[in-house]
Amino acid sequence: MTAMIVGLTGGIGSGKSTIANLFGNLSVPIIDADIVAREVVAKGSPLLTKIVAHFGKAMLTPEGELNRPALRQRVFQSEEEKTWLNALLHPTIREAMFHQLRAIQAPYVLWVVPLLIENQLTPFCQRVLVVDVEPEIQFTRALARDNSQSETIKNIMNSQVDSDTRLRYADDVIENNKPLNENLDALTQQVTALHQQYLTLSQYYSKKEEK
Ligand code: ADP
Repeated sequence: MTAMIVGLTGGIGSGKSTIANLFGNLSVPIIDADIVAREVVAKGSPLLTKIVAHFGKAMLTPEGELNRPALRQRVFQSEEEKTWLNALLHPTIREAMFHQLRAIQAPYVLWVVPLLIENQLTPFCQRVLVVDVEPEIQFTRALARDNSQSETIKNIMNSQVDSDTRLRYADDVIENNKPLNENLDALTQQVTALHQQYLTLSQYYSKKEEK
């Protein structure tokens, strides 16, 4: 038996991790594409060696870990380098994610994927949950969180689908414009209601799977 897959997506800084944590509080298993993407380029991994061979030693921190801001800077300046990196990383990340998804023993799993729509992964989801936020708020939050330049955040936002496109794929939407200190209770309630809905839907899904 495989778990029903709920894809959680949204732009950079929209609040995916924040919402995923609320599902985590309800003991929902979570597979986060960003975490898997970090695992495949861990210190000493074959993929990290290939990245350093291509872009140089500046891609490593003094500890021998991947220098993510440096790599991000490089690939968002060049479409060609971005394509090269994606071709290197995506098959391994995909394989690792599907391996982890198949191993889940639960009614459903929350699959957190920033580029769910861009990378055409929605067909693998039984349900798509979008975190939606105004672009200005998104930019401010992403900038405050990341150690990146505003230009880098802007480039990332421009490389992702816009809110209208994302919403066309959504079965469910969580709007995350209000500050958390005012809105955490409402978000928690919405997540709890979605959780109930997904538990119900997962029963139909597992019946279908049995056939
Ligand atoms: P994502 O995972 O989509 O990139 P995060 O959940 O990390 O986004 O949120 C981006 C940043 O904004 C984080 O620092 C987070 O703590 C903050 N944040 C998220 N939602 C809110 C909110 N409603 N009010 C204030 N800050 C928020």
